[in-house]
This record gives sequence, structure tokens and C-alpha cells, in this order.
Amino acid sequence: MSQRPAPSPFHIPARDIARRPGTQKMVSEVFPAPAVLGTDVIGVPQGAEVSLDVSLESVSDGIWVSGTVTAEAVGECGRCLDEVRQQVAAPVQGLFTLDDPKVDDEDEEPEDVFEFDGETIDLEEVVRDAVATQLPFTPLCRPDCPGLCDQCGARLADDPDHAHDVIDPRWSALQSLIEEKES
Ligand SMILES: [Zn+2]
Ligand SMILES: [Zn+2]
Repeated sequence: MSQRPAPSPFHIPARDIARRPGTQKMVSEVFPAPAVLGTDVIGVPQGAEVSLDVSLESVSDGIWVSGTVTAEAVGECGRCLDEVRQQVAAPVQGLFTLDDPKVDDEDEEPEDVFEFDGETIDLEEVVRDAVATQLPFTPLCRPDCPGLCDQCGARLADDPDHAHDVIDPRWSALQSLIEEKES
């Protein structure tokens, strides 16, 4: 029994509208993310729900795709390491061209042009980039997160008056003497 690889949810069949300029179709799907979408510090986890709402419009040289991808990204606060959850609604767009992707139009952004084999639109790269640009470089649980105490690692948000007893100056003088001797 031959095992067919599971089709990627980002692969959208478009043969029915290919080479038929003026036709279009809407795609609205919800599926678990087949892989992490995002960066090392924050991303949509594998298996998390992803909503894809796009319209596919057949144009003379291919298919113009535009819409939105929505999901929830999970990451770690860059200051206090708490979990950060962020709703992502990223605009998705691109021209999937039947010709070799070449830029002969000044107004056309080359990064929005992708290859199209006449059968299937592969939205994975577009979605991946769209989500990544919506995510912060340093996720924060809240904009004014005070972070952790640099002495004991306590969360300063839980304990804003947090302080450490300063070592008696005589003791610290003695301590540095001992350290000097040891080194
Ligand atoms: Zn934080
Ligand atoms: Zn502390």
C-alpha cells in the first residue's frame, strides 16, 4: 500500500480558475499549523489553530491572492520570561505567476511574486513571512514589564517593593579582603 504524503493545508488547488482571467474563488479554512510559524522567541505553535481567509483571482499572467491569516502566537517575555500570547492577523498577498517570475513592472514588488504550476497555489512561504512580520523581536508580557531582580531572579511585577539588605559596609570590606587573598 503506497502512502501518500498528507497534503499541506497551505496548498490550495487552483486549476479550476487558472488561465481563466476574471474568475475567482474564496478560500476560508481553519486547520492546525503543520509546523511552527514564527521566530525562536515567539511563534504560532505546531498544531495551534490557524485561520486562512483568502481570495484567489485569476489574472492574465497567473493568480492574485489576497486575504488574511489569523492565529495566536505564544512566546516568552524578554524581561520576566512569563508566557506571552499574542493574536496575529496578518495580511497575505502575492501574485502566483504562470510565467517565470520576472520583474518587468516597476511598481511590482519582486518579493510578492511566486511561481505557479497551473495546479496548486503554495501559500506556505507567504503565510510564514506574513506572520513573522507581525511578531515582535522582543515579546513583552506588558509594555512596562519590570522584569526580574538581578540579584535573586524574583519577578518584580509580583513584588514592586522588592529589595535586598545591603551588606554592612564593614563586612563587604572584609569580604573583598578575603576574596583578594583567595585569588
Ligand atoms: Zn514580563
Ligand atoms: Zn531579589
